Amino acid sequence: MLKTGKELLLDAQKNRYAVGAFNVNNMEIVQAIINAAEELNSPVVLQASQGGLGYAGVEYIASLGKLAGRNANVPVALHLDHGTDFKQIVQCIRHGFTSVMIDASKYPLEENIAYTKKVVEIAHAAGVTVEAELGKISGTEDDISVDERDATFTDPDEARYFVDETDVDYLAIAVGTAHGVYKGEPKLDYDRIKAIRQKVDAPLVLHGSSGVPAESLKKAIPLGICKINIDTDIRATFAQAVKEYLEDNPDQIDPRKILGPATEAMKRTIMDKMKIFGSNNRA
Ligand SMILES: [Zn+2]
Repeated sequence: MLKTGKELLLDAQKNRYAVGAFNVNNMEIVQAIINAAEELNSPVVLQASQGGLGYAGVEYIASLGKLAGRNANVPVALHLDHGTDFKQIVQCIRHGFTSVMIDASKYPLEENIAYTKKVVEIAHAAGVTVEAELGKISGTEDDISVDERDATFTDPDEARYFVDETDVDYLAIAVGTAHGVYKGEPKLDYDRIKAIRQKVDAPLVLHGSSGVPAESLKKAIPLGICKINIDTDIRATFAQAVKEYLEDNPDQIDPRKILGPATEAMKRTIMDKMKIFGSNNRA
């Protein structure tokens, strides 16, 4: 069943688990995610980035996501990840996404609020719920100094002001994770998560969570993290499985034979994450 992101995340918040949000780019990834969710009886977020939409096309991704969501026997939300283009956000809403992210975090606070507010107004009018980002989640750069790290982390008081002003449904926060592959072990700022949660009622979202140790995630979830984004770990699993298969079967030309094992491997990676997040048996 297809649900809004908010419906999924409020249940997670109430019952202190996190919903996995996994990036989709093609049919095999959608199937891997849905099969994992059904096998574990877990709610799940299918999310597409602007890159994913550019690769597959909004209509393809929307059709795959809606079909998968409607046919699934677990709650599924279809979400736009890191939307920065107002027109594309509207396009996703029109094509049946049930959740969108407006990422205006690169702008100063008041501008971020203005952009976010605009998206919240039109999304809510269409029954779609909204994620925004406050603070800056760094990229693959891992050797940044502590001062720089602090400068980009989410401020708890600003978070409250931001949520009050924008009426956003869930908030992505910068608390020590980064997008891409980590060079060292990521250190999460648990006190900051706790402080933000004390000031903000909206469910909190953790980006860049591939490569974050399971123990760190398990510690962060009860502090208020309700949605955890995973992309890199799925990519790595996919690439590894395809490489291994072709090494063992260099003459194989059937895409189904080549991609089948990768779909299965991605499903296992996703199931491992769902168990860490505690979303199994929560559908
Ligand atoms: Zn992200």
